[in-house]
Amino acid sequence: MEKKFKITYNESNVQGSVAYVLVKEFDLTPNVLKANISGDGSGIMIVSVVGDEETIDKGMERVKECGYSVCPVMDHIHKDEEKCWSCGACVSVCPTKSIVVDDDYKVVVNYSSCIACGSCIDACSVKALRLVI
Ligand code: SF4
Ligand code: SF4
Repeated sequence: MEKKFKITYNESNVQGSVAYVLVKEFDLTPNVLKANISGDGSGIMIVSVVGDEETIDKGMERVKECGYSVCPVMDHIHKDEEKCWSCGACVSVCPTKSIVVDDDYKVVVNYSSCIACGSCIDACSVKALRLVI
């Protein structure tokens, strides 16, 4: 199975890398979907982890022990087709390129690659986008 997590940290407070812990200690397959590191050493990552559920949970507990804050990404984005007028404002802000304009100039969301970051919600002036659990 695949689980997604938001991981926040400060370089001065963590030991080891998330990828090293998950791969070497738990034989899991992590994939960083988004990463943003600030000049002060703090960072945020959205990480997808593939493996069996029990091992993923144990792996993420170990990541927490290394000083990282871990929050599961449970939410998914929903687009209200009645409200959306395909203005395109949400397309460019999506870090995973999950929102595209199709051949009919209609804005569509690829839900499988969405990491529920919420960036598109702020971009939509008519509130056509929201996170749902
Ligand atoms: S910003 Fe809102 S109205 Fe514009 S395309 Fe995106 S969802 Fe539709
Ligand atoms: S929440 Fe919106 S901006 Fe973020 S990944 Fe999903 S579709 Fe893209």
